[in-house]
Amino acid sequence: MDSTKYSLADFAYIPDQDLMQRAHTISEYLSDARAKHHMQYRRVSASGSGPTMMVIDPYTGELREMIYMASNDYLNLTRHPRTIQAGMEALQKYGTGAGSVPLLGGTLDIHVALEKEIAAFKGCEDAILYTSGFGSNAGTLLALLQKDDIAILDQYVHASIVDGCKNTNVRYFRHNNMEHLEKVLSTVKDKYRTKLIIVDGVYSMDGDIAPLPAIASLAKQYGAYVMIDEAHATGVIGENGRGTPEHYHMEGQIDIVAGTFSKALGCVGGFIASNSELVDMLHFYSRAYMFSTAPTPQVTGSLREALKVIVDEPQLREKLWDNIRYFRKNLLDLGFNIGNSQTAIFPIIIGDDLKVREVCRRLHEYGVYVNPVEYPAVSRNLSRVRISLMATHTREQLDTVLNILEKLGREYDIMPYKGAKESK
Ligand code: PMP
Repeated sequence: MDSTKYSLADFAYIPDQDLMQRAHTISEYLSDARAKHHMQYRRVSASGSGPTMMVIDPYTGELREMIYMASNDYLNLTRHPRTIQAGMEALQKYGTGAGSVPLLGGTLDIHVALEKEIAAFKGCEDAILYTSGFGSNAGTLLALLQKDDIAILDQYVHASIVDGCKNTNVRYFRHNNMEHLEKVLSTVKDKYRTKLIIVDGVYSMDGDIAPLPAIASLAKQYGAYVMIDEAHATGVIGENGRGTPEHYHMEGQIDIVAGTFSKALGCVGGFIASNSELVDMLHFYSRAYMFSTAPTPQVTGSLREALKVIVDEPQLREKLWDNIRYFRKNLLDLGFNIGNSQTAIFPIIIGDDLKVREVCRRLHEYGVYVNPVEYPAVSRNLSRVRISLMATHTREQLDTVLNILEKLGREYDIMPYKGAKESK
């Protein structure tokens, strides 16, 4: 099979092939893509997340140092001495696991402390912890929304939100488009019991920010609730890194604040912060919480310290923002299409899947670790290279990557605004 003629999405459903036949078709596709060095996913690293990483070359098996621009570890708290130390102390005190599900003996005092701390950080009454961010969104929505309700989703919300809405009615509005949101709200007006608008604070593939004030005001006008996924906003935006509501001075005004512990907080897991009644309801109705073992002591200890580091060391966030401003200005001056990126996530929008794969292959050859993003992760014709920055990237590393991008940009003709110069 010639993989350049297809994308993985083409094999999501094959009507006349059973399970194993379909696995075989996909395997043939993957073998060809790997042989062409077009399959850049699931690279294996032999060191932790940081501005550089020791990565095992998938073709030669050799270990090589690469500049790592594929992480969501924006503040690099995965390697912070304080988060490591706090994790080790919790590990030593409580052992390697929580031992049980939260309702049946798995809840430790440090879990309850973290719930209170993350709730306070987010300006909410209470919070509930989950062992994964995906499970947190999906498991919460499955518990909250029923067949008489409707979820009104920005078209770019994360897959965990889409999956969580399988038991309810769903309507999408065009990305960050408030006119379209209003149109959707006006058509669903009195037809559903609960209307819940769900958006991401910062969009994971675009790096742009949801227009929360307009969303909240439309919600009020049409009697809807608002849920925001703060996965990529927590620790990054807002004066104190508290996320999108803080960015817009709207703390405490959003009905449900979801988030992950896996990005700027440097660990794993998720949380929902809200009023205490809704949180308590989740304790007894959210199956992803009830039937899954509580977070490990090490993760819980590290997370409690990560929240303190965010407060005590604002210089980390300032360094991240220095990097963001510098990188953004240079990409715009070179003429790349970076959409409406406003944060640490930079899409280099190319639109042609094959070019995206080629550019990623070349970047990897140059020692720069980035990710290709194709349909269905983004809309067709908006495929891109996704680059993300950390506070610990040095100016020299940013310049190295910018120089390589400039060279590849010319070679592959992917700088549509070249010469326009005016920064957007
Ligand atoms: N929400 C968003 C916006 C995400 O980008 C992600 C993960 N990439 C998740 C939720 C799921 O979080 P986790 O990886 O912590 O399970």
